[in-house]
Amino acid sequence: MENSLSIEQFKKQFSPKEDDLLKAFFDLQMEKWDFARNNYGALKNSVRKIFRFTDTEVVAQFNPNRVLSTMAVTDPEKIKNRKCFLCEENLHKEQTGLELTENYTMLVNPYPVLSKHFTAKFNIHKPQKITENFDDLLNISEIFGEKYFALYNGPDCGASVPEHRHFQAGIASEFTIINEARTLLQNPSGGKLRAVKTRGGAELYAAKDFLRNYFLIRGDRKADIRELFFNVFKILEQKFPSERETKINLVMFKHGADFILLIFPRKAHRPSVFYNEDETQIKVSPATLDYGGVMVFPRKEDFDKIDKETIRQIFNEVGFSESDLTAVADEIE
Ligand SMILES: [Zn+2]
Repeated sequence: MENSLSIEQFKKQFSPKEDDLLKAFFDLQMEKWDFARNNYGALKNSVRKIFRFTDTEVVAQFNPNRVLSTMAVTDPEKIKNRKCFLCEENLHKEQTGLELTENYTMLVNPYPVLSKHFTAKFNIHKPQKITENFDDLLNISEIFGEKYFALYNGPDCGASVPEHRHFQAGIASEFTIINEARTLLQNPSGGKLRAVKTRGGAELYAAKDFLRNYFLIRGDRKADIRELFFNVFKILEQKFPSERETKINLVMFKHGADFILLIFPRKAHRPSVFYNEDETQIKVSPATLDYGGVMVFPRKEDFDKIDKETIRQIFNEVGFSESDLTAVADEIE
């Protein structure tokens, strides 16, 4: 990317005071980019509702700036000829990139859901495909350390630009599911994590939190995490194939020396309320952030309508049941 800086160049040019490169990069973009600054300002003042469930919570956020993402057309035929939002020629002129790795450039997301919301984009226009960029996710997570997390939206379950490979990133402590996972890990034998397999020093668990069922992998060696991930992925591909890729949302973060990977297998991209044509219609299109506890509603009428029961219903429809998860876990050798 022409308008981008390597980490070394960035440090030299701006000498960020604290040891938080991403914050310095974010602040720099806020200084010179009115459009993004206004959207972050609006997010700060956005209306929210908090729903408490057993041991977890979901924050509903009214966020009209996300209308494009929620309503995004991701059909492969229809997106073939549209302009790609992540390709260099279509970025905002104020946008600067930070070269995170050899292949990935960090951008500030101008349509935020998180207080600091980044996109790590692949430098080449290639479709979203986790089997080809899982190692990048590990490498990016290693650079982030404990403070930031990275997420992946599969092309058939939440990525609004599935045609261009990318991850999103934000502050780990702001994301409900991460705080929850850290608590679970302090007490792995507490009944919510079921050990499925170990590999080297790494462990694969089936996790339930009474709202969603997911896999959790923990380990300090990238090769072990990788192997356990592909064990799960292979079974998901066989049992739950989808057009481009089995439907998964991923969250990765560091916890001490460990990498933690959360795998949310999905059954559907959108819940039935999205398609309803009467007053029960709710335009919500759950991707990793929604699934992890930050649900975005771009239309006020939907935000007003959402309640606990509907959230439960949405999660039931788009996610795996406990028995779905068990069926996959049972096939992992
Ligand atoms: Zn592109």
